[in-house]
Amino acid sequence: MTVYLVGAGPGDADLLTIRAAQLLASADVVVHDRLISEEVLSLVGSNARRYDVGKIPGLSHSQTQINELLVTLARQHDCVVRLKGGDPFVFGRGGEEAQRLGDAGIAVEIVPGITSAFAGPLLAGIPVTHRGLSHGVTIVTGSTVQGSSVDFTALANADLTLVVLMGVARRAIITEQLLEGGLDPSTPVAVVEWASTEQQRTVRARLDGLPGLDVVSPAVLVIGAVAALELGRITEFASTFAFSS
Ligand code: SAH
Repeated sequence: MTVYLVGAGPGDADLLTIRAAQLLASADVVVHDRLISEEVLSLVGSNARRYDVGKIPGLSHSQTQINELLVTLARQHDCVVRLKGGDPFVFGRGGEEAQRLGDAGIAVEIVPGITSAFAGPLLAGIPVTHRGLSHGVTIVTGSTVQGSSVDFTALANADLTLVVLMGVARRAIITEQLLEGGLDPSTPVAVVEWASTEQQRTVRARLDGLPGLDVVSPAVLVIGAVAALELGRITEFASTFAFSS
């Protein structure tokens, strides 16, 4: 009768919390998203029922239906794990699920996860803050929610690192707004695709080169002076440099 809202981290099972691994092993039911890796799912106990709410045929996965599925499952089982990529409360709509379950009188425990907003840059050797280069970091969504979107002109600030999730599709408009807001066209940019997985790839460029980059989702966009750094041993699959000078 408890739903555990669990962060799965960016992909690599080694980056799960111990609490997450324990809950996956003991869950009666696991309800997960599309981006959860097979490696993480392999930690689910063999008797547990798995629901992929990213692609079950016939089950339309609107947020309302996921919420109702969780309420129903919580009334049937002791331990329901709702597994979400990264951190459950960073753009995962985990907050809405917790609210709905709370309204239904169901106990909810939330287990933090490593967000791709931090792990993505880090695994590409990029510190999101760095003395002398960046005094802070802003994390935003690049997607539009119900017609509204982040005003990037207001986020053009050379002293802060900008991390954009779900930003690949709208990278041209994001760039346009940042330039309009006064950010230097030569500001370093890095796009980290599939962070922590075998397909991890980093593409580096200048801000004015971002619209033309050949990059795919899921990816984290990092914009700011720190995006030019490459610290530590990078274990990623491939790294591409696309500096146009
Ligand atoms: N709750 C998640 C974010 C969900 S929104 C978290 O904390 O990480 C989904 C977006 O997250 C993707 O569009 C992409 O921008 C980013 N993302 C998730 N996993 C990623 C990964 N392994 N590598 C790069 N970006 C990732």
